[in-house]
Amino acid sequence: MVTAFPSPPPLSPPDSLAEKQDVVVIGAGIIGLACAAYLQEAGRQVVVLDDKGVAEGASKANAAGLALSDILPLASPRTLRQVPRWFFDPLGPLSLPIGYLPRMLPWLLRFVYACRPAQVSRSIASLADLMALSRQENPRLWALAGVEDKLRPTGSLQLYDSRASFRRAGASWAVRSAHGISFEHLQDDDLHRFQPGLSPSFRHGTHVPGWEMVSDPYEVTVVLAQAIQGRGAVLAKAKAVALKPLPDGVRLDVEGGGTTIAEDVVIAAGAWSQPLAKGLGDRIPLETERGYNTTLESPGITLERQLIFGDHGFVASPLSHGLRIGGGDELAGLEAPPNYARARAMLTKAKKFLPELNTEGGFEWMGHRPSLPDSLPVVGRSKASPRVVYAFGHAHLGLTQAAATACLVRELMAGAQPSIDLAPLRPDRF
Ligand SMILES: Cc1cc2nc3c(=O)[nH]c(=O)nc-3n(C[C@H](O)[C@H](O)[C@H](O)COP(=O)(O)OP(=O)(O)OC[C@H]3O[C@@H](n4cnc5c(N)ncnc54)[C@H](O)[C@@H]3O)c2cc1C
Repeated sequence: MVTAFPSPPPLSPPDSLAEKQDVVVIGAGIIGLACAAYLQEAGRQVVVLDDKGVAEGASKANAAGLALSDILPLASPRTLRQVPRWFFDPLGPLSLPIGYLPRMLPWLLRFVYACRPAQVSRSIASLADLMALSRQENPRLWALAGVEDKLRPTGSLQLYDSRASFRRAGASWAVRSAHGISFEHLQDDDLHRFQPGLSPSFRHGTHVPGWEMVSDPYEVTVVLAQAIQGRGAVLAKAKAVALKPLPDGVRLDVEGGGTTIAEDVVIAAGAWSQPLAKGLGDRIPLETERGYNTTLESPGITLERQLIFGDHGFVASPLSHGLRIGGGDELAGLEAPPNYARARAMLTKAKKFLPELNTEGGFEWMGHRPSLPDSLPVVGRSKASPRVVYAFGHAHLGLTQAAATACLVRELMAGAQPSIDLAPLRPDRF
């Protein structure tokens, strides 16, 4: 059954911004809106700015997974080992158009540097902290949005192409086990009984029962925006172009010439955050990992859980209004037009892996993941002003980590002891 989406709340025009604000949040994606909801709950008057609208960035059509078991950073020797194989497949999980290589090179070098064992251990510890906090805070965020009924404890099923691939994944499951994450490996008939409809070529899988999903990322993000607007937050359609610290606040210029002064500012502009930070003197190596998917309204099959085709870098996500197939990683920056052949390549593979899948009539999408080279977000204050807090760079995990991030931002702004160690997430760590 196709579910009608809620309409995004109306946004005020940029010239409606008052001269003075309490808190301005830049970005109406899931991170900015979660921060706004938490700050509002703490009694702050919040204004959220976005130049495109609510959930028009990466938060619009992601894979809907609350991937609480994903504590292994992408920047790891495991990924480096896969890169050569992936690069030889032009429509495979990873692509880097040659023209973008010079721009991407500094980020790639930092990525390789982050694959050293000491940093991988630090990243795992920090991701485990973030995920534990996410597990604790997610129910609060979804209650603030009033969408508790749109959370689904579906679990996930990771699938392997071969026994060799399953064996290679063993070390990563040992790490998860050490962090208290439960899972169950399934083989042959047990696997096919658990997940009917799979191609018989699959003989190994891992079920993670603690994985959750939302009904649809756009739906929950829009409803969250409606909820905070209903409680008095102002949502304005405006593009922040520059910030200037003042003795008692922050001056914020918006495109078109408007200016407002805020007590505090949160920069949560996803993959577009870097120029704003740079203008404040913070050089943060943010890049984008572009991902693609196709949403099938009549997929012809019903899945109870998210399926992860890890050897191919994509997932199948059952949503309230269909089945979404996608993922992938294209390092092509913010400006290049989408190459939807990447979405179609994943769909073709999905048809092979799920033979009953009806791939007709899908809706294609491309989104910009905001990514730092060490696979950790930035959550911390600008060196230019303690009144500017950064909350961006959540890469593949922004939906999962939104509530934890909002909790940390609220703690930072209140001068409270943060719930987790923020050193690995500091903006000046690079
Ligand atoms: C294919 C794909 C699948 C994914 N699957 C998952 C998943 O299953 N689970 C998960 O946890 N994560 C997933 N992610 C990652 C997740 O979508 C992102 O990490 C998350 O959406 C980032 O949220 P954000 O609010 O930081 O950024 P965005 O949602 O991109 O929001 C940033 C907003 O800032 C606005 N903005 C930018 N510049 C300005 C400015 N100067 N002034 C005003 N506004 C501005 C933009 O218009 C945008 O609306 C996936 C991503 C992709 C691409």
